[in-house]
Amino acid sequence: MWTDSRLVLASGNRGKLHEFSRLFSDYRTEVVPQTDLGVDPPEETGLSFIENALLKARNASAITQIPSLADDSGLVVPALDGAPGLYSARYAGSHASDQDNLNLLLDRMKNLSGLDREGHYICALALVRHSTDPDPVVVIGRWYGQIINSPRGEGGFGYDPIFLPDGLHQTAAELDSETKNKLSHRGLAVCELRSLLT
Ligand code: IMP
Repeated sequence: MWTDSRLVLASGNRGKLHEFSRLFSDYRTEVVPQTDLGVDPPEETGLSFIENALLKARNASAITQIPSLADDSGLVVPALDGAPGLYSARYAGSHASDQDNLNLLLDRMKNLSGLDREGHYICALALVRHSTDPDPVVVIGRWYGQIINSPRGEGGFGYDPIFLPDGLHQTAAELDSETKNKLSHRGLAVCELRSLLT
């Protein structure tokens, strides 16, 4: 059972702050973004989403001396050896837009068909009670689908217009945000974390 009164969120994203604050409101835990506590993000040197989430959580906890939660997410295409993977946000370069990244992925996949067009979003969450916590809570959510050839939909962000979730006829960018949040890699990871904390 989770009892700490404060938690630092190792992410600068306000949308995530809202989502994680809701998760921890049941425990009367205040979720504070790391930027409010003067924490600079560490270099993401891990080779996996889990490693990077843990690096971020440990870094924030080391600086603030309070428990920390971090997330790391992206899109994995097995036929491209896992790309865009850890580099999802900057696949087409450090200043690339979502559109640039999506266009590069479509270009890299232009000769792929069938099973080679499979891809999944992944979200790793890491919760540490202190910076050297040997037993962190780590969960992973995955959302499986196909990468389609032409973008569809205006919602979501990132690769959503070309991600067709398994079992659906709409891309992630055509789903309303409530539906996406329920089905998505992040939604699944948050749900599992919730079940582990109770
Ligand atoms: P972050 O770690 O949540 O900031 O995600 C890193 C990158 O992964 C984003 O910039 C997107 O390119 C990609 N990504 C992660 N989650 C999603 C999603 O739900 N939809 C679309 N792209 C995503």
